[in-house]
Amino acid sequence: MRSFSLAAPERRYRKVEAGSQGMQDKINRDRTADRRTGAGDEKDRTVTANADETMPHDNVLIFDTTLRDGEQSPGASMTLDEKLLVAELLDAMGVDVIEAGFPIASNGDFESVREVSKVVKNAVVCGLARAGAKDIERAAEALQPAQRGRIHTFISTSPVHMKHKLQMEPEAVLDAVIASVSLARNLVDNVEWSPEDATRTDHDFLCRCVEAAIKAGATTINIPDTVGYTIPSEYGALIAMLRERVPNIDRAVISTHCHNDLGLAVANSLAGVAAGARQVECTINGIGERAGNAALEEIVMALKVRRDLMPYDTGIDTTMLARASKLVSSVTAFPVQYNKAIVGQNAFAHESGIHQDGMLKNNQTYEIMTPESVGITKSSLVMGKHSGRHAFREKLRELGYDLGQNAMQDAFNRFKDLADKKKHVFDDDIVALVDDEVARGNDRIRVASLRVIAGSEGPQEATLDLVVDGVSEKVTCTGDGPVDATFNAIKAIFPHDARLQLYQVHAVTAGTDAQAEVSVRLEEAGKTVTGRAADTDTLVASARAYVSALNKLLVKREKAAPSAWVASS
Ligand SMILES: [Zn+2]
Repeated sequence: MRSFSLAAPERRYRKVEAGSQGMQDKINRDRTADRRTGAGDEKDRTVTANADETMPHDNVLIFDTTLRDGEQSPGASMTLDEKLLVAELLDAMGVDVIEAGFPIASNGDFESVREVSKVVKNAVVCGLARAGAKDIERAAEALQPAQRGRIHTFISTSPVHMKHKLQMEPEAVLDAVIASVSLARNLVDNVEWSPEDATRTDHDFLCRCVEAAIKAGATTINIPDTVGYTIPSEYGALIAMLRERVPNIDRAVISTHCHNDLGLAVANSLAGVAAGARQVECTINGIGERAGNAALEEIVMALKVRRDLMPYDTGIDTTMLARASKLVSSVTAFPVQYNKAIVGQNAFAHESGIHQDGMLKNNQTYEIMTPESVGITKSSLVMGKHSGRHAFREKLRELGYDLGQNAMQDAFNRFKDLADKKKHVFDDDIVALVDDEVARGNDRIRVASLRVIAGSEGPQEATLDLVVDGVSEKVTCTGDGPVDATFNAIKAIFPHDARLQLYQVHAVTAGTDAQAEVSVRLEEAGKTVTGRAADTDTLVASARAYVSALNKLLVKREKAAPSAWVASS
């Protein structure tokens, strides 16, 4: 095997020109074929590209890791049903690769990768694995139902990680790279390899590992800025360095994976693309470990709006971005900041008189893209209590939902209840209602009924009927205010040690009859979960949000404790 020596690091030079490598032509061919035939195996590549697709525009593959890295956000966790809903939306939106989880981490993770593999029609489904054989075999097993499965295996390569985390010598790490990629490649034909903490890795060693991984069969090489340390010029130079110095680099797609600790995740990813990377790993709303990952919607819209300077296409239907943002925000119970680029509530709001005046004359005065291009429409008055099932189904379709018969009937019943309480039902109400319905999925604990006495004359009192594993129990508790009384009642029926970390209420729409959307975050033994619920009654929403968090905690309890092998890649 050819290897790099420290003494002669610069033996080969390759021309660095974004998008000219052979692998890129292969991606273009694959994608052309995939979009036409809905399949991606070798034989489909014979489909001829049309004139448009042979234009000198490169494709950048969008690798979404909302379900894996995103779910590692402190406090974010999704149930299986929620993950399936997100996966189906990502697939419909045109995401190229969906990283669905880390199968060895827990039975829940394994199940979700397996179930996502079954429902995804177009995207490659990816499972994460450390370098050990058990991890890789478990990932392959979870991916078995996938039409196109990918194993993403990784190991740390930086001096600080190798010494303290892995306690391995560099040569042993290199051996592990070869062994892990070879094993993965024996199980699936699509393998991605990542040197964790790549941006703090010695360049010569990085080159040796990348070359070895490609030789062992990796077809995607991901370069993670695991700790969010790099800056755009440095990261671009790192990608260019690999393209120059690794002799077999044209046999793999280079990928970016940037964290946002310095707020540079998107800028770094785009610098990587400019230097020749052709896959970007990102998440909806930029959720992820610590300060998060590169935001998918920002990457995609930056490439679209500034195509003049970055002539790279993605396969994303951008009109679905707002919907994806709302869904992920709702299932993780992570609110989107008002001034968030692309999908924030204020992203297209013009406050100052001068701006408003300009917009009325011509919207190009202050708008670089239209709200419609990212799927933001004015919240419209949709329906009232006389609207029928057919109209409701049509509205759901328009909002991007395709519910099964039972879920549809449940959602319709709740819509009727809501329309009785609330005169005007807006799009946002329906989104909140359906997402709320989906979140209830397979919960062990459910709120059956709640009656609360509130007011200035205490003590406030809550009478709660809770169903736990099919058994109903009723208690009455007092508390320091109605919310406290309600939560005390939950604790009386289902005793637990979790601590309440956050309680947050916001209105879904305007008006005093608006639905309240409540988020509750609980912490137990270092694990945090967030539950969310919507109802026109703030206290009912509070009880259901708390119970939703408890249900998530029960799922999370079974997740394996982190070991030295577990990474945050
Ligand atoms: Zn990460």
